[in-house]
Amino acid sequence: MLSRLLMSALALLAMPVIAATPVLLVHGGAGVIRESLTPEAEALVRQDLESALKAGNAVLQAGGSSLDAVTGAVRVLEDSPRFNAGKGAVFTHEGRNELDAAIMDGATRKAGAVAGVRHIRNPVLLARAVMEKSPHVFLVGAGAEAFAKTVRIQTVDAKYFRTEERWRQLQKAREAEAKKQASSLGRAVHYGTVGAVALDRQGHLAAATSTGGMTNKRWGRVGDSPIIGAGTYADARCAVSATGWGEYYIRAVAAHDICARVAYAGKPIAKAAGEVVLDVIPKLGGDGGVIALDSEGNFAMPFNTDGMYRGWIDQDGGLHVAILADGADG
Ligand code: ASP
Repeated sequence: MLSRLLMSALALLAMPVIAATPVLLVHGGAGVIRESLTPEAEALVRQDLESALKAGNAVLQAGGSSLDAVTGAVRVLEDSPRFNAGKGAVFTHEGRNELDAAIMDGATRKAGAVAGVRHIRNPVLLARAVMEKSPHVFLVGAGAEAFAKTVRIQTVDAKYFRTEERWRQLQKAREAEAKKQASSLGRAVHYGTVGAVALDRQGHLAAATSTGGMTNKRWGRVGDSPIIGAGTYADARCAVSATGWGEYYIRAVAAHDICARVAYAGKPIAKAAGEVVLDVIPKLGGDGGVIALDSEGNFAMPFNTDGMYRGWIDQDGGLHVAILADGADG
């Protein structure tokens, strides 16, 4: 009898642990200006955020990994012309599109990132290939594109990324610069970076971020998005993807600071994220927002801009999309 009890206890221990109900959060960038958002534009943005959530959630509901979920969600947003990532990326001062992306697997803390790529249709896929198929973490420019060829990542003509709206934004930024108005690198009207964080059934977290950076950027400028710990970070307990004025997110090492507050100070994810986004970064002079998720499915999406395109599927399975502050429009 005793041995049978012992056997069944051992069998229970050997069973795979279903640790978590999946959660998925996505963002499509901070810095929305209310007046600039027509109802038509808003409807399309909402549709895209929903499609991204559905793509990621399909993976999670099928028992797939958080890594696959964030890859799938970010890929959908990169393919939309309405976000500053992949197609629709902002232009550099010289009129080029230079794309950055990163991905991190919380369970293993493996990571991959690329910066300044100009012909990669889905930079998040290249970041993932860097993580899985190279001995490195971060590849840039021509070298990253040479690596892409060796792992059969899809390349496109540079023209693929162009949208007229982003081109107009560059002309405006350059005019403002010529007139010595507020720097186009500050208070950008549209940031539009995209990102996702997810918790899968195994209780594993992942984060991914993809961006064209900031309009009118120069000299090979790279923002926070592809920098592990600044714009993207995941560990066993916490995953973060950021958007906003990248220079400040780098200086604050924002994503890692949030997760460090969770790990070392035992702070709830909402408090940790709020402290960094609403206190540390504004005090330095920056702005933006994050999506942040912990291994129990608790999450927060603080931002100190007018709005942040964002969506989430919580543990009840409900799909939500919001743009302005307080989710009042969600
Ligand atoms: N954080 C991005 C960067 O600085 C911009 C954004 O979030 O849209 O490159």
